[in-house]
Amino acid sequence: MEREVVVVGAGPGGATAAMALAQQGHDVLLIDKDQFPRDKTCGDAIPAGAIDILSTLGLKEKIAQAGFYPARQMMMVSPHGYQFVAPFPPSEGGSESYIVPRLKFDHLLYQHALESGAEFCQAQVIAPLLERGRVIGVRLRENGAVREIHSRLLIAADGSTSVIARALRPDKQQEMHRAVAIRAYLDNFTEYAHEIEFYLYKGILPGYAWIFPTAEGQANVGLGIRLDYFRQMKGNLEKMLDRFLNMPAIKQRFKHTTQIHSLSTWQLNFGSQPVQKVYEGALLVGDAAAQINPLTGGGIYNAVAAAQFAAATAHEALLANDLSRQRLYPYQTLCDEQLGPSMHRSFLMQKWLFRFPLLVEGLIRTLGANSSFAQTFLNKL
Ligand SMILES: Cc1cc2nc3c(=O)[nH]c(=O)nc-3n(C[C@H](O)[C@H](O)[C@H](O)COP(=O)(O)OP(=O)(O)OC[C@H]3O[C@@H](n4cnc5c(N)ncnc54)[C@H](O)[C@@H]3O)c2cc1C
Repeated sequence: MEREVVVVGAGPGGATAAMALAQQGHDVLLIDKDQFPRDKTCGDAIPAGAIDILSTLGLKEKIAQAGFYPARQMMMVSPHGYQFVAPFPPSEGGSESYIVPRLKFDHLLYQHALESGAEFCQAQVIAPLLERGRVIGVRLRENGAVREIHSRLLIAADGSTSVIARALRPDKQQEMHRAVAIRAYLDNFTEYAHEIEFYLYKGILPGYAWIFPTAEGQANVGLGIRLDYFRQMKGNLEKMLDRFLNMPAIKQRFKHTTQIHSLSTWQLNFGSQPVQKVYEGALLVGDAAAQINPLTGGGIYNAVAAAQFAAATAHEALLANDLSRQRLYPYQTLCDEQLGPSMHRSFLMQKWLFRFPLLVEGLIRTLGANSSFAQTFLNKL
């Protein structure tokens, strides 16, 4: 049987594409290797811009009722300990940013995609099916058995280890456009209410450590660093996190009963490397298309925005009964025009500033929240 649209990956990118297309009356099969709710290694900061887009897809009330923990301001700490606090600017649609464990946030999106009419299948996708250079579906493993599902359009939103991108992309993601990161949760910790904290210091640049409160007394903590530098320094993420948590200013916020749990590592593909996102019969979305901001490490907004562009392009192409690369190309153009410029600026800042503790120090001390560096963290998380 041929499905109209098969979406692989039910994270923010895949769930958004699935709900947008299902709401327009398309037949959508959403596939994920995991049953939901499921965890995803992340800082859990959900930018207001992503909430704006999800609100237009019918999630406004559900998000308002979910009791998510708002993020209202950011604190940035320089290599020598200078710090400033700045409020998050209002989003165009008037939404708040939140810090929500992905276990909860992704579940809400997944449920909404199903309520919008998408059908879910828990299966591990193995590879795209190709016929004369055209993607015609996927091969997957479901309950131990391998089978094939044919599609008119395949949307690959299967994250930074995407098997679809690996099979289709003519190039590989280079190490200078990738990062590695570790995150853990702290319970019974003295958080700063509604405040996201970034720590930039020697030994972590180009990268940073974070503390993002998820509720009163609870926080998501972690750090990330560009992969090529991590390899050069022969780094160890667990030791680096341990060092961060033992810094006196952080350690004093531990209570006797503070628990560290759910430690996990994952990788990030930055949007600073141009990626072919459109193929005959297929589109890549979110981390599968390497759409993470190379300065902030934020990828949820870009994944949701790209999914919206993908759904708009796919809707027109399906109506025209033309799923050729040429007909689907407006998706690539939208991503390049709407997400490309800030990705490029962020990469320049990451490349020329972020490596040098003294430059970062000077910038934070002289311009504080007004520097385009800090503004990128405020606007492009
Ligand atoms: C440590 C860390 C911290 C981060 N912090 C933030 C943050 O605070 N804010 C922010 O905006 N971004 C953050 N990011 C980036 C963010 O997590 C991603 O950009 C975002 O999850 C991308 O969404 P996605 O839908 O493209 O992919 P994902 O969220 O990765 O979803 C992919 C889905 O595909 C499924 N899948 C994968 N392979 C297969 C397969 N073969 N078959 C079937 N299903 C499959 C997975 O189970 C998963 O559900 C962080 C990333 C890391 C690693």
